[in-house]
Amino acid sequence: MTQPNNPRVLPASSHLSTLAVHAGEERQKAGDAITDAIFCASTYTFPDTQSIIDFIEQDLPREEYGRYGNPIEKVAERKLAALEGGESALLYSSGMAAIVGLLMAKLNSGDEVIFFDECYHRSRQFCTDHMARFGVVTRQVPACDYDAMEAAITPRTKLLISESPTNPHLSIVDLERFVAIGKRHGVETLIDATLGTPYNLRPLAAGVDYVLHSATKYLAGHNDLLAGVIIGSKAQLESIRDLRGIMGAINSPHNIYLLLRGLKTFELRMQRHNENGLKIAQFLEQHPKIEKVYYPGIESHKYYEVARRTMRGYGGLITFLVKDADAATTAKVVDAVRVPRIAPSLGGVESLIEQPLVMSYFKRTPEERQKFGISDNMIRLACGIENPEDLIADLAQALETI
Ligand SMILES: *Cc1c(COP(=O)(O)O)cnc(C)c1O
Repeated sequence: MTQPNNPRVLPASSHLSTLAVHAGEERQKAGDAITDAIFCASTYTFPDTQSIIDFIEQDLPREEYGRYGNPIEKVAERKLAALEGGESALLYSSGMAAIVGLLMAKLNSGDEVIFFDECYHRSRQFCTDHMARFGVVTRQVPACDYDAMEAAITPRTKLLISESPTNPHLSIVDLERFVAIGKRHGVETLIDATLGTPYNLRPLAAGVDYVLHSATKYLAGHNDLLAGVIIGSKAQLESIRDLRGIMGAINSPHNIYLLLRGLKTFELRMQRHNENGLKIAQFLEQHPKIEKVYYPGIESHKYYEVARRTMRGYGGLITFLVKDADAATTAKVVDAVRVPRIAPSLGGVESLIEQPLVMSYFKRTPEERQKFGISDNMIRLACGIENPEDLIADLAQALETI
């Protein structure tokens, strides 16, 4: 039996929640089950030699060997492409595997790539420490400085990269300006929209070439797996797909099942993440022991106007500064909360809290921390989907301890 290849056809007007539940799935599945089967197979059999020849000559829709894909991966890729409004999606074993796969496929020796400097530090590090070994030049310009980005373009520039919102400062990229720079110079654009999510941000509609997500975060949503995805046009993803089959950074069918299960509730979870983020940011902003709140949905935020224009909601991530607090006093607040867990990451159902100074910048010098805008009194809170009043009461009691 070759795999059925008869994805459900949904009304073109389908909204995100309908797509999250149904898009990309086959009409009739193995065993007539409503859920997708997990096929534990490293390889796929052919009934006879002629079937192999037909498969090769006619590019038939079936599996061959596990590194090139598996049936449930195709379902997840179609669903993620539908959610993002893109033609095609490529799933990876982590967000970093996705970005490494894209950069390795797209850049050649002598090419240049330009980042806004608030991008995920591991992505920039891969370029500065590793792509550099293959002759790729990385330029970094201040986040949201469009003139600096345009000025850094040379005839060798192949890719402009940003994140939106950025982490931990939640800067919001004006996608129209970002895309316009790329188009003016014939340079492709990539947005890491992990914090934005397809619920809150629509980079492809704005003309961005590639959207990337650490699906580990909001898309999977349950702090129980790692995955990454790139979405774009079929033609532009082709060379990246070919390299993925060689790299082998693919997901096990079990992992993809969990991702699909998490995706079913994507819209509901995002609505609560957005509600919690906004309510808690507003609570923190009026609190006498808080010096500053970074959250794109509050008016005091540097990019509030851009966010309001381009986003549907602002997500669950909030960064804030505790007034007149040194590193130890700030740690006391983190240690006093009872509901959020102390951990890196974001986007899952459980709220997570951390002090960036300790969690991500402990080995950096004070000068480096200052350059990255990481102060001793900074706390990053990734709101989960708990009840907002419970989270607010918990933060209030934690702030009472200092
Ligand atoms: C977590 C994260 C990544 C890396 O994703 P992994 O799944 O951890 O490899 C990349 N970009 C952003 C914005 C992230 O938050």
